[in-house]
Amino acid sequence: MTRRRASAAERLRWMHDRLFEAYGPQKWWPAETSFEVIVGAYLTQNTSWKAVERSLANLRAAGAMTIEGLRALPVSELQTLVQPSGFFTRKAPALKAFVAMLDAEFGGALEKLAAAPTEALRKRLLELPGVGPETADAILLYALGHPVPVADEYLRRVAERHALLPEPPDRGRSGYEALAALTREALGGGSLAEEARLYNEFHALTVAVGKAHCGRVARCEGCPLAADLKGRRP
Ligand code: SF4
Repeated sequence: MTRRRASAAERLRWMHDRLFEAYGPQKWWPAETSFEVIVGAYLTQNTSWKAVERSLANLRAAGAMTIEGLRALPVSELQTLVQPSGFFTRKAPALKAFVAMLDAEFGGALEKLAAAPTEALRKRLLELPGVGPETADAILLYALGHPVPVADEYLRRVAERHALLPEPPDRGRSGYEALAALTREALGGGSLAEEARLYNEFHALTVAVGKAHCGRVARCEGCPLAADLKGRRP
């Protein structure tokens, strides 16, 4: 009897289950409020979380970790506070643009923003300066509770090294959307709350395996996902 080959979505679902078994619940996003998640999602672009934490600490100390606090802060001061996480001349105005959009279109209330339909909200977020698909989806999922997958460089590397897609996903928009579609196929289909829970956990678990094993260089020995390679070289 010949055995059917597992589909890419089935393999990705196995990866989620295997990583959860190996690492346990990740309790993401590491933040105290939804607004802090949003600020973190902007600041984490192209930098380490350690650098973001220094900027977040500055913002907290200056009383600027709230919508009101950030609204009142001149952009030049905001630049100084977020300097540790890099690209501050771009990130500070981008954060101010988010607050301006929230004020102008949603009465300054995150609850009103969160109540908008997912597709329309994603489109609106992507129109903002400094917001690409990963930032938009991280805000939607972790700050606003919408069931959307987040794809990042760690997931791209895993997908490429395990040849999950017919073509290796590129670092641009089409690669991102291909990874997001595969994640939806693998983990979607349940209730909205269940989908959000799985997307939340899977992104965090992907970051965990990326940091421990699948960085710029793959360190496959002892990696929870090594069995999926079935002896192939990554
Ligand atoms: S380190 Fe190796 S086994 Fe682990 S996810 Fe990367 S390619 Fe796969």
